[in-house]
Amino acid sequence: MDTQNLVARLNSSGLLRSQCLIGGKWTEAYDGKTIPVHNPATGDVLVNVPCMGGQETNDAISVAYEAFLSWSKLTAAERSKRLRKWYDLLMANKEELGQIITLEQGKPLKEAIGEVNYGAAFIEFSAEEAKRIYGDIIPSPLADRRLLVLKQPVGVVGAITPWNFPLAMITRKVGPALACGCTVVIKPSELTPLTALAAAELALQAGIPPGAVNVVFGNAPEIGDALLASRQVRKITFTGSTAVGKKLMAGAAQTVKKVSLELGGNAPCIIFDDADLEVAVRGALGTKFRNSGQTCVCANRILVQEGIYEKFAIAFSQAVQSMQVGEGFTEGVVQGPLINEAAVQKVESFVKDAVSKGAKVLLGGKRHSLGMTFYEPTVIGDIKNEMLIARNEVFGPVAPLLRFKTEEEAIRIANDTDAGLAAYVFTENVQRMWRVSEALEYGLVGVNEGLVSTEVAPFGGVKESGLGREGSKYGMDEFLEMKYVCLGNMSSS
Ligand code: ADP
Repeated sequence: MDTQNLVARLNSSGLLRSQCLIGGKWTEAYDGKTIPVHNPATGDVLVNVPCMGGQETNDAISVAYEAFLSWSKLTAAERSKRLRKWYDLLMANKEELGQIITLEQGKPLKEAIGEVNYGAAFIEFSAEEAKRIYGDIIPSPLADRRLLVLKQPVGVVGAITPWNFPLAMITRKVGPALACGCTVVIKPSELTPLTALAAAELALQAGIPPGAVNVVFGNAPEIGDALLASRQVRKITFTGSTAVGKKLMAGAAQTVKKVSLELGGNAPCIIFDDADLEVAVRGALGTKFRNSGQTCVCANRILVQEGIYEKFAIAFSQAVQSMQVGEGFTEGVVQGPLINEAAVQKVESFVKDAVSKGAKVLLGGKRHSLGMTFYEPTVIGDIKNEMLIARNEVFGPVAPLLRFKTEEEAIRIANDTDAGLAAYVFTENVQRMWRVSEALEYGLVGVNEGLVSTEVAPFGGVKESGLGREGSKYGMDEFLEMKYVCLGNMSSS
């Protein structure tokens, strides 16, 4: 694929935006500073974009506040219609959006288009759910009173998102926020801002009013500080690292904002002796190698019971070996590059640590001959839960296998972490499915299934993996305040 031609084509489609969006206006940084956006597969600069900071963010907050005053007053039906239109436009442009995702993030085009379907589904779901934000009427203990509960939008939302799902991490925040009547200032990752800008362009085309969706990026800490300090921003919703999430949570205390956090995971994937081997291999492959291992719900530790360990290790390694690695536009490729050099170095250091402590590389274990940030799909056996790779998210295409004997031991190892986002269990025993699912200290559990994310189910973690839920009817509450109204002097006679 000729990248330059593709960039030129996307440019003429009007979707490849290279300025930030404030109050409906495409805007440069006030001091003219720019930063490059790279194609991780080639290292080429795709385009230069503004490097914004606190001043631009404060302006984006002001226009979002102005827009909130009118957007929140629209009927739910009207907000729903515009969200539905945005969904239609996202779907109508899914090839182009997929191409932008592959260009700036590296994932294979088919997977990128899959992300567009998944990401757009949050907008569709939000359009539908906008009409179902019900209040309540409470039977009054006093005859002359009527007690009501109203649900109202929290206000301006600051949405900070990572690079691994450049579209879906935005739509699962912005969809429900807009549906509830909130307006947003989005701060996408500086590594993947182009998808966010394309989505924002389509939001404008859909009739989402100027100022309701703003996009700024550049100096992340400065932008974060401005969002945190503002009294007009009433909610921070964040997906990213646990370290940054903790900083944001502490910062939000200044003005006591609502906070939702989707932070790092350390997902166990437990394969019991009684698992269906084929189902377990397929499931573990899906959850481990999606997006080259760069998702927070990727299996980080594959716990395999001793009776099935050897058989699983062989079948799994064979399946991993057949995965084609390469640039995301090449037909048949299922593993793209890692996002940057730092990501590869992290993977290398974890593999080195594991091997130095007795783990055995069963497949891969080094950089790919393609160079750049490509890494060989890797399987490592004899991992111990004390090793770095089992304590931290590897965020790369490395599958560490840990051996265990009993169900109790598997649960103990699985829960022996500060993280609590996703866990996976493979077993054919129905009682065990229930027992283990209930015992796992995780927000999501996949039983005989490695891909569990959907817009209709609540996504989120426990422990240090975060606060709040995204998607589903439960995700709407994150953007709503409850107001109790007591009507007095209501005697009927
Ligand atoms: P990752 O390792 O996945 O990049 P980060 O937590 O570093 O995770 O990044 C997630 C998002 O948080 C990105 O948009 C990044 O720019 C942003 N970010 C990083 N540091 C800060 C900060 N101090 N304040 C606000 N946002 C930040």
